[in-house]
Amino acid sequence: MSFPITLDGLYIDGQWSAGDEHLRVINPATEALLTTVNGGDERAVDLAVTAASAAFADWSHTTGRQRGAILRAIASGVQARRERLMFVQSSNNGKPQFEAGIDVDDVIATFEYYAGLADAMDGGLDRMVELPSDDFAARVRREPCGVVGLIVPWNFPMVTTAWKLAPALAAGCCVVLKPSEVTPLPELELAAIIAESGLPKGVFNLVCGTGLAVGAPLSGDPRVAKISFTGSNAVGVQVMQRAAETIKGVSLELGGKSSLLVLADADLDLAVELASGGGFFNAGQMCSATSRVLVADELADEFLRRLTAKAESIRVADPFDPDVEMGALVNQAQYQRVLGHIDRGLSAGARLVCGGGRPADLSRGYFLQPTIFTDVPRDSALWCEEIFGPVLCVRRFATEQEAIALANDSQFGLVASVVGADVANAERVANALQAGLVWINAPQVIFPQTAWGGYKQSSLGRELGPWGLQAFQEIKHVIRAL
Ligand code: NAD
Repeated sequence: MSFPITLDGLYIDGQWSAGDEHLRVINPATEALLTTVNGGDERAVDLAVTAASAAFADWSHTTGRQRGAILRAIASGVQARRERLMFVQSSNNGKPQFEAGIDVDDVIATFEYYAGLADAMDGGLDRMVELPSDDFAARVRREPCGVVGLIVPWNFPMVTTAWKLAPALAAGCCVVLKPSEVTPLPELELAAIIAESGLPKGVFNLVCGTGLAVGAPLSGDPRVAKISFTGSNAVGVQVMQRAAETIKGVSLELGGKSSLLVLADADLDLAVELASGGGFFNAGQMCSATSRVLVADELADEFLRRLTAKAESIRVADPFDPDVEMGALVNQAQYQRVLGHIDRGLSAGARLVCGGGRPADLSRGYFLQPTIFTDVPRDSALWCEEIFGPVLCVRRFATEQEAIALANDSQFGLVASVVGADVANAERVANALQAGLVWINAPQVIFPQTAWGGYKQSSLGRELGPWGLQAFQEIKHVIRAL
């Protein structure tokens, strides 16, 4: 499998075309150029929003079952091109093939789930509302909010897109999607599948390009009713400011600094497995990375010994190596950012237990060893900021109250994990954590039925589940005199 030398980066009103902005797309495992995507700018955004606005009248009046059928066709298309999509994900993002497979399955499950919710809308969009008066009758209905702009990052391309696109289409919205300029290839493949799904032209539009050339004008366009954004906090603020000019709805999925709590009665092997998975999956480039590992005093020494052994045994390799366990970071900028965090952590006095640099057997590609720190000062960037790389900070605690306070002491509140044998106690600890999702004795499994999003500066709104659908709906009440 390979890529053409250049790719059209615009899919607008059912037509592919090339824009004037040339995005060089790199394979992070080899640093070689994969292809050049000809993306767009403000003019392409204007055309895409015009096409989406024109398509809205018809699409918003389709039945739920009609929309459900198209979502299912997209899911089938993704299933049929599973191998190709895995290849594209690993080539463009650097993630191992087995992780790319998990991503593709997540996309399929998401489209199928929202197909079911779309079907169910035919059963009654309108519900009667009980009133304290016999003189009036009221009903409530949910309507699609209009043309929506979806802006996504590079760490789980296609998955972050599916979490927005499937509910937006199920709700009856028309879409302009802007993928990350770092990883446009998975979204280009997805767009090709959507183009064959039977979706009417103009309902889905794709504009590849940079944040400034495409994301900013999309956020400012007065015809766009809502922006759903996943990415960094710094850009989230810019999107919100731009959207504020036209009082647009905004959903934000931003950064995290999440904790994994290893309670005194935890199964140590399980705790090590979960800490390693939470910290090193996707080379730690996860908003949900459990980058703070808090361990009960009595287990701390043995836990650190086993976790270090585990980290040192992880096979960092080319994403297509059959034995790979951790792939490459996404690009040079991200690689340098993570190395900078490691350097600043050392300067701040943190103790490096293992890792911290390039694996000796890999001379090119953005590969980094799984890295563990202890004695990390609580006011250091390493402890407080999102690193977005395979770097864990391990700290011991004396009491569960202390562990909960340490976990909650963050500007973020996306997820958390608890490991402990006493389930009732683990549930109590979970309830005390300021996070949108808490796993107990479980890896970071995600279901389309459960919400995604967090407290504090991690999120505005929730994705997935019925909440993900409601994010693309307006509420209307109709009150009639009897
Ligand atoms: P980023 O903020 O740099 O970019 C995200 C998207 O915004 C890209 O498509 C980019 O082109 C676009 N963009 C950039 N400037 C813009 C502007 N001025 N206006 C509009 N759009 C603009 O993020 P990234 O580096 O691609 O991704 C990493 C970040 O994403 C991390 O902070 C991570 O925590 C976050 N993330 C969060 C979640 C979540 O669910 N909470 C999931 C994945 C990633």
